[in-house]
Amino acid sequence: MQATARRDTPPELEIRSLLYRRGYRYRVDMSPLANHRSRADIVFTRLRVAVYIDGCFWHGCPLHGTWPKVNGEWWRNKIEANRQRDREATAVLLRAGWSVLRIWEHEEPESALNLIVAELQSKSC
Ligand SMILES: [Zn+2]
Repeated sequence: MQATARRDTPPELEIRSLLYRRGYRYRVDMSPLANHRSRADIVFTRLRVAVYIDGCFWHGCPLHGTWPKVNGEWWRNKIEANRQRDREATAVLLRAGWSVLRIWEHEEPESALNLIVAELQSKSC
């Protein structure tokens, strides 16, 4: 179920390849914390930066999040639960000294790249 138009390349792959070309190395789809099962999409373990690329539909994007009418309540609960889990995962990571970047899948990969690079640079000095 995808409520918004997607490009051929999933934004996550695009952001990853931009980072890679800039010389950054990272882990993909891993739990930043050993004792927490939430998985981040792009993880910089040494600098402790976790990046999430959130899907507009599944995470209830304010611009593109739509609430399906069929089984509306079920979907609403599902999406609200996702959002709640996002907030909890962010809080746990912040408490552990991590930086958390949440990027909507609709954001321009180039601007997402700039955001990530700025965070990495601020932590590496
Ligand atoms: Zn969106």
